[in-house]
Amino acid sequence: MTFAWEQPTAAVAPRYAVDYRFEEMAALFQSWGFKRGNAERAFSAVYRGGINDYRELEGILPRGLLDRLTAGAMPLDPVARVEVSPSEDGSTKFVFHFHRGDAVEGVFMPFGKRTTLCISSQVGCAMGCTFCATGVMGFRRHLSAGEMVSQVLHMLKASGGTTGRGDRVNVVFMGMGEPLHNLDGVLAVYDILTHRHGLVLSERDVAVSTSGLVSRIQKLGGMERRPQLMVSIAATTDEARSALMPVNRAWPLEDLLKCLEAFPLRKRERIMLSYVIIAGKNDSDEDAERLAAMAARFPSLVNLIPMNAHDDAPGMIEPAEERLQRFYRTLLDKGAFATIRRSRGRDVAGACGQLVKLQVASQ
Ligand code: SAH
Ligand code: SF4
Repeated sequence: MTFAWEQPTAAVAPRYAVDYRFEEMAALFQSWGFKRGNAERAFSAVYRGGINDYRELEGILPRGLLDRLTAGAMPLDPVARVEVSPSEDGSTKFVFHFHRGDAVEGVFMPFGKRTTLCISSQVGCAMGCTFCATGVMGFRRHLSAGEMVSQVLHMLKASGGTTGRGDRVNVVFMGMGEPLHNLDGVLAVYDILTHRHGLVLSERDVAVSTSGLVSRIQKLGGMERRPQLMVSIAATTDEARSALMPVNRAWPLEDLLKCLEAFPLRKRERIMLSYVIIAGKNDSDEDAERLAAMAARFPSLVNLIPMNAHDDAPGMIEPAEERLQRFYRTLLDKGAFATIRRSRGRDVAGACGQLVKLQVASQ
């Protein structure tokens, strides 16, 4: 079977500094006749120094290399413009407009000493989940590695956060798009963010959230170094799940769960199961029991996300508080680890499944 989202991705020019894995940048500089040490300095200047212009590296990089860089051989930033909307709950929504065109959104969420940066991997999404505003919009294009990395850098810069060693920052691919559809780009981002000359995030600080692309989850599982896995479940029977998430027609629940059982986990690692909970659609006691049974098949943590209502999903609203609490308690009673995740940034449309509103409104 070939799906629309299996189309190969075309390479695009120019390549920005943030598009390069460290080794690629070192090879490029060497091909121009400059030593590898210069790539170490340039890479850490981009990620830790937060430079906005190569001229800041006068005296740090050789003249000839600086001349090439300032002449545009490797432009610094694929983002043309950033809109920032602080929310009352402490989170901040960002809209990133790219030089290539298009815009995506990211959300900056401080939780005590840890900050979670939720970033987008695509413009739109091909998966078509009926509860999701991005899904209703359809697929426009993949983001390049640099367009993803730059979301992280801009959010850190705007928050006044330093970009050095020791920061407690998590990056989750939970904004617009299906990250495992854009797997090559996402893996490049993972290498860049975790590189010792870059932001030095640890393996556990980066997570991808997928709607359940089984073949790509298997590929991820086979990798020596990889981000953490989050899977969006949204329903507990094939009939209900296929109605909400068309991907279920390609990989039904049992295929997905078997793949998750086989997924090689690190010590103390769990697979996060996200469950968007929608009144009257997937919030019954039986749903809670079936979800708990799924969660028991491998080390997991269930995240209940109350549905964020929006115009593109008519009739879908969050359950009453009492129903939500009962669903949650049933999960716990059946032995599941679970949390209720109150979406952040609702007042600025930065919450799950709403990450498209502003873009549509500004078109
Ligand atoms: N495409 C990936 C990651 C982005 S979606 C995925 O689906 O996992 C991020 C999360 O938001 C998913 O868990 C999805 O189920 C949830 N979500 C989407 N629309 C939502 C809405 N309207 N209300 C609450 N959660 C929603
Ligand atoms: Fe895409 Fe995730 Fe939205 Fe589904 S929930 S349409 S996979 S972004």
